[in-house]
Amino acid sequence: MKEQEHYNDNFNQRRDFFQKNFAIKIGKQRTDVKSEDILKNSCPVCGYLTLDERDSFDICAICFWEDDGIDDFEVNNDSGPNHMTLKEGREIFQEAKRKLLSATEGDNLIDTLKNKFLNLDNSIELENLDKSEIVRLQNEIVDLLTKNKVYGLEKLFDK
Ligand SMILES: [Zn+2]
Repeated sequence: MKEQEHYNDNFNQRRDFFQKNFAIKIGKQRTDVKSEDILKNSCPVCGYLTLDERDSFDICAICFWEDDGIDDFEVNNDSGPNHMTLKEGREIFQEAKRKLLSATEGDNLIDTLKNKFLNLDNSIELENLDKSEIVRLQNEIVDLLTKNKVYGLEKLFDK
């Protein structure tokens, strides 16, 4: 495992992992770009597999980005419903996740979330293809966030 102060989120690997190993659910897709390689069901901000379909204003249950279809090809475009660019959304998430994973004296919620993220991310890094295990780990995170009304990881550090 990496030293936590040098923690570097494996966002690209995570997206590739979900893209390669989980079937893309067919839903509404953009037609103005060649989207089949780009519009994954993984969230464009946090990379987790949270979107049932793309470009349909689903809200990611982990980072709370509202998916208006913006992806890698438009990182600097304003995303209307999110009031920021994709690049900015990614930076906020990355910073919050870095804080979470390097927290040493977190409360119970922070500790529990930290361990669950470490678990899930390790499974992805090891290319664990037990899909039900991956989905279970991710659902535990989503349940915890929902139950505690944490609408975005950065909210954990708003105090
Ligand atoms: Zn997300």
